[in-house]
Amino acid sequence: MIEEAVASLGEPPFRARQVYEAITRGLVTDFSAISTLPVRLRKALAARLQPVTIEEVETRVTRRGDARKTLFVTADGQPVEAVLMTPPRRATVCVSSQIGCAVGCAFCASGRLGLRRDLSAEEMVDQVLAAQRALKPEGRHVTNVVFMGMGEPFHNYDETLRACRLLNDPAGFGLAARAISVSTAGVVPGIERFAREPLQLNLAVSLHAGTDVLRDRLVPLNRRYPLDAVFTACERYVARTRRKLLFEYVVLEGVNDTAEQVEALARRLRRPLFHLNLIAYNETGGPFRRPRPGALSAFRGRLEAAGVRCTVRRSPGDDIKAACGQLALRSVRAAAQ
Ligand code: SF4
Repeated sequence: MIEEAVASLGEPPFRARQVYEAITRGLVTDFSAISTLPVRLRKALAARLQPVTIEEVETRVTRRGDARKTLFVTADGQPVEAVLMTPPRRATVCVSSQIGCAVGCAFCASGRLGLRRDLSAEEMVDQVLAAQRALKPEGRHVTNVVFMGMGEPFHNYDETLRACRLLNDPAGFGLAARAISVSTAGVVPGIERFAREPLQLNLAVSLHAGTDVLRDRLVPLNRRYPLDAVFTACERYVARTRRKLLFEYVVLEGVNDTAEQVEALARRLRRPLFHLNLIAYNETGGPFRRPRPGALSAFRGRLEAAGVRCTVRRSPGDDIKAACGQLALRSVRAAAQ
């Protein structure tokens, strides 16, 4: 789009590169701030283009200050949320790939909305650039990007991968591919396609259950892509890429932390390069409960005893509804009012 606008103004291609660098590295949000451009070109571009595709509406910061959730609005008035997590030495942006989500996981706030529309690559990249702008005054940088916000990235495959390539572009934002992770609820054709991508991106699969009976209930997409199909694709992915594969597992007390699930998970996950990440459920007003203190580590202990490599991931941001599965409920309701 930048190239086309610059070319249509009769300017040489290097001007487009200057604009691209100013946006992705200089983090400008206004063409008038691009001092490398002649003033007439800045004005002409401002009349044709917007340098940012989403506008910040509100940012909420956790009590501990370790996460911030930003609500943006797109040019067509749709709400989008992204979360910046800043534990010591890291700054991870959790990016939304769609507005709402069609997967409809039983415990997820985003899933209750249904799908409104896909986000463009630029709308995804702009979530990261906004986070970088927030970090800049502290002299910090975005270290990781995870496509784990609202949406199923593989239902918007082409734009998600284009966003990954833009973020990775050494002439632009320049984030290492290994610092970018894409998470799917188990879209098998997406996993197969992702395994063939030349970039060394990370893959995560949201599992949430070890049996089809339970997963059909928690992740309705399982009826289309049952666990055998998902794991066949995962094993092919690992064989082809030799990369570690992370399985995300939101723990719902008394539902998916039972002995039956431990046994089923162990059967599927006792493989080299498979790793299970446990996340305590963050309550969103539905029927599920967060595991009581101690229950999560006990579940982890039983899994490890059964031979599953696993870790517990702390999910910052539950006091601002920015934790896993909590995105978009409050803001979309507010935006609809
Ligand atoms: S957990 Fe992810 S895949 Fe499931 S409904 Fe929520 S956003 Fe969609």
